[in-house]
Amino acid sequence: MGVDTLIIGAGISGLAAGLRLQSLERDFLILEARNHVGGRAHGVVLGDDSGIDLGPSWVWPAHQPRVRSLIEALGLRHFEQFETGHILYDAHGGVQRLGHPARYGDARRLAGGPAALARAMAERLPTACIRTGAEVTALDFADGVTVTLASGETLNARRVIAAVPPRLVAGWTMTPELPSELVSGLTRWPTWMAAHAKFVARFETPFWREAGLSGSALSQRGPLMEVVDHSDEKAGIHALFGFVGWPAQQRRQRGEAGLIGDALGQLKRLFGDAALSPTQTWLKDWSSDPFTAGPGDTAPPQGHPPYGEPALQQLWFGGRLAIAGAEADVRHGGLIEGALAAADAAVERLEAASSAA
Ligand SMILES: Cc1cc2nc3c(=O)[nH]c(=O)nc-3n(C[C@H](O)[C@H](O)[C@H](O)COP(=O)(O)OP(=O)(O)OC[C@H]3O[C@@H](n4cnc5c(N)ncnc54)[C@H](O)[C@@H]3O)c2cc1C
Repeated sequence: MGVDTLIIGAGISGLAAGLRLQSLERDFLILEARNHVGGRAHGVVLGDDSGIDLGPSWVWPAHQPRVRSLIEALGLRHFEQFETGHILYDAHGGVQRLGHPARYGDARRLAGGPAALARAMAERLPTACIRTGAEVTALDFADGVTVTLASGETLNARRVIAAVPPRLVAGWTMTPELPSELVSGLTRWPTWMAAHAKFVARFETPFWREAGLSGSALSQRGPLMEVVDHSDEKAGIHALFGFVGWPAQQRRQRGEAGLIGDALGQLKRLFGDAALSPTQTWLKDWSSDPFTAGPGDTAPPQGHPPYGEPALQQLWFGGRLAIAGAEADVRHGGLIEGALAAADAAVERLEAASSAA
């Protein structure tokens, strides 16, 4: 037998499962397909504790106990989402300047973004416990668990935690075949935010603030449906980000350069000519990322799905397979807090099954 527990995925959930197993002094190895940790918690590093978020931006420590204790334990700087000033409404009839509604409430941003949280989590684990560039393609439960990588290499373990978006698990080769109840539980739920694309433009100055604008805008016209200030004053970063509202197919037809041009044109319409002179821009289309988006993740769900699929709350294959990942959580499904909670639940279920055996 190889390692005791294999964890598939080094997103926030897989890393949290690793930290939990480390605290229980269990032997484990995290297998990550990409060449970096963090998964959807991804961004551009601009300094020691600063960066641009291309995935998540917000956490709510006031209501998210696991996020709160983790950022306290890791000593991460966090700050409020800037929203002082007028918000804009980009209607077909023209741009309207609205009042000062607080849209983000007690949302907090992390210095360096959630990507920095993931890196800080990984730094708490021995480097030998995380293997990047290791894409899992098959699981075989004939004797313990045998995991096959895209390279053809196989690894053995006593048990496995799948900490990847559930729709991706359903695409692996499984021996024996997955029970139909688990297949439908894995495929039913959208991968949160996987259908979205995020555009970020960095500027020398926060010129919108100087004009009494918060940087927030909602749009009927697009391509950005929601625009938000993405500055980090302390790090000297001034930026705006937007979620691209056009469907994935339309985004692909337009192409990256066309989409960036359209997004900057929209920012000019909203915030004036200065928006046409960013120092840098980034576009991340999650719907075309094979390690995030599964089949069906091209159109966003209407609202936040009621995650909490029962088939993801239990062990399979005689207590050898547990499902973690944000989409497996009931209370905070799809969110970073959910990724942490699902990791805890998966480890607890496996440990309970081990002590009962
Ligand atoms: C644009 C965007 C905005 C978001 N905004 C917010 C927000 O503001 N607040 C919030 O709380 N949440 C937000 N989210 C959701 C948040 O990012 C997720 O809840 C969280 O990051 C999920 O972590 P995870 O570990 O469950 O999954 P993931 O981050 O998806 O990690 C899964 C990991 O598994 C790896 N993997 C996949 N397939 C394989 C394979 N075959 N073999 C090995 N490894 C594999 C992936 O590379 C990845 O590293 C947002 C997401 C996006 C994309």
